[in-house]
Amino acid sequence: MSDPSTQNPVAQQAPTLAPVEGRPSNRIAPADAGSDIFFAAVQTTRMPMVVTDPHRDDNPIIFCNEAFSFMSGYSQDEILGKNCRFLQGPETDRAAVAEVRAAIEKREEVAVELLNYRKNGSTFWNALFVSPVFAENGELRYFFASQLDISRRREAEEALHEAQKMEAVGKLTGGIAHDFNNLLQVIQGYADILDARIDANDRSARRAVDAISTSASRAATLTQQLLAFARKQELRDRLMNLNQLIGDFRAILERSIGTGITLKRDLAANLWNCRVDPVQAEMALLNIVSNARDATGGTGKVTIATRNAVLPEDASVAKLEPGEYVVVSICDDGPGIDLATADKLFEPFFTTKEMGKGAGLGLAMVYGFMRQSGGLATVRNGDNGGAEFSLYFPRASGAVERKPSAPVAPRSGGAERVLMVEDQAEVGELGRTILEDLGYDVVLVNSARGALDTLARDSDFALLFTDILMPGGMNGVTLAQSVRRDYPRTAVLLTTGFADEAIDEGSRSFELIRKPYRRNELNERIRQVLDKPGART
Ligand code: ADP
Repeated sequence: MSDPSTQNPVAQQAPTLAPVEGRPSNRIAPADAGSDIFFAAVQTTRMPMVVTDPHRDDNPIIFCNEAFSFMSGYSQDEILGKNCRFLQGPETDRAAVAEVRAAIEKREEVAVELLNYRKNGSTFWNALFVSPVFAENGELRYFFASQLDISRRREAEEALHEAQKMEAVGKLTGGIAHDFNNLLQVIQGYADILDARIDANDRSARRAVDAISTSASRAATLTQQLLAFARKQELRDRLMNLNQLIGDFRAILERSIGTGITLKRDLAANLWNCRVDPVQAEMALLNIVSNARDATGGTGKVTIATRNAVLPEDASVAKLEPGEYVVVSICDDGPGIDLATADKLFEPFFTTKEMGKGAGLGLAMVYGFMRQSGGLATVRNGDNGGAEFSLYFPRASGAVERKPSAPVAPRSGGAERVLMVEDQAEVGELGRTILEDLGYDVVLVNSARGALDTLARDSDFALLFTDILMPGGMNGVTLAQSVRRDYPRTAVLLTTGFADEAIDEGSRSFELIRKPYRRNELNERIRQVLDKPGART
């Protein structure tokens, strides 16, 4: 076997490498380094490179440039003489390693992406390209390997893949939930009507109606969670401080998780404000804390902490834009979450709980809500090994808005004229029946255009009650805006079971009732709108 120190790994191309004095004999360097532009380039390039000698035992590295040393965290002396496998660790893909080994045996080129380990134990993704170097007579001399730390690209790809998966599931879920909402509106609505009409003594009829109502309202909750995951729920956000919300909500949280769990708070002073739908934020907290209760078996400690965070300095969250965030972390002292579960737990219907215990929608709802709020929910295991969920809300500026005042007690219905717009025939019929039952005088049309035509003939309506999403070019928000402009004496109440960012913006200046709504709820909202001072200017 020839002495590698006298051979040049890239001899076929020009420069001559020679042993460095006082260095291990496997170290090779240019004979005339000063004039050797090629060698200088290899040394100074940011692309990590090594040369190995297949004629020696275990194919050791006989040359590495500074970029390789920098990438791996090892000094040149620690690297030279070792086989490249010292970069591998427990999570390195064995199949990829076998692919490299096979190529080396066959003296062929190979390109793979490998998870490698630095000297300090941290990992990075290495795009490795290995190629054999042959002498002019065709004899194998060396292997040359270039490497590239592609961790950022891999992270971005993984985040994108994850986002695309969630987006696709979200679209499907949102579509189903939207149609379901309309069906539920009809089921629940007619159950309410029956309930008001059946004989007080007819116990079996009442039991039947109660069962329909209870199941329908359970289905409505599920549908709402699906819409939340699909980021299609109606968010009513306001500027607030989450320390305040956590303080106000504490008593309810404590009651719902039971006495075995100690709830601790660690709230940052001077916490920034953010824009949040408080009801949904409370639901998210409740979901996470209930999971913590289940994970700890009902006895343990749950800590809710808040802090301000500036990304990316504070933490690198690949899926979040750099910027200022308010972070709410909830950590428990349960068994924590394994990698396979962590990968899936925000997906709808993922549960590890026994049948009947979990629907797997709690965290899906949290995920969708956080995305829709411009932030993100993340999970990792905390320092004590238990699960730690973090909710990142974008910081918002401005003064905190006061809580809306408690709704006025509903009177029984009124006798005003209502123009109702609903494209779904059954939902429309139901709405008309409820409103007429309450005493209102109702005209029902099935499109925005139909509503404008009606108003052009007869504008004496106290209220326009319209669905938002309607086919035919004009949606309920556009209709409401034109009614506000042309018929200011007619008040407006919108309804929808579905949120859409574009519509959201426009709908903010109108009152809205979420579908499916109940008879009493609708009456209450209509009275709020009609009895508000200046409602019909
Ligand atoms: P569900 O509670 O109906 O199972 P979720 O979406 O709320 O649905 O939770 C999904 C899964 O995430 C749970 O079944 C459980 O495996 C896991 N999980 C959630 N929170 C924790 C936690 N604090 N500790 C351990 N595992 C958890």
